[in-house]
Amino acid sequence: MEYLVVRCPRCSMPSAVRLGSLSHTCPYCGTRFKVNEVNIVARARNGREASELVRRMLAQGR
Ligand SMILES: [Zn+2]
Repeated sequence: MEYLVVRCPRCSMPSAVRLGSLSHTCPYCGTRFKVNEVNIVARARNGREASELVRRMLAQGR
C-alpha cells in the first residue's frame, strides 16, 4: 500500500496519507482537507517509509 506525504494547508505540518484517500485530517491541528487540493511532498511505498519521511521532515524543521 503506497502512501503520500502531504502538507496541511493550515499549519503546513507534514503527515502521511494512504494513496487513494480522498480526504485527510491533519494530526496536528485537526483540519480536514482534500488530498488532491494540497501539495504532495513525497511518496512512499509503505506506511513505515511514510512515517520515516515525516519524521525526517519534522527533525529538519520543514
Ligand atoms: Zn494542520
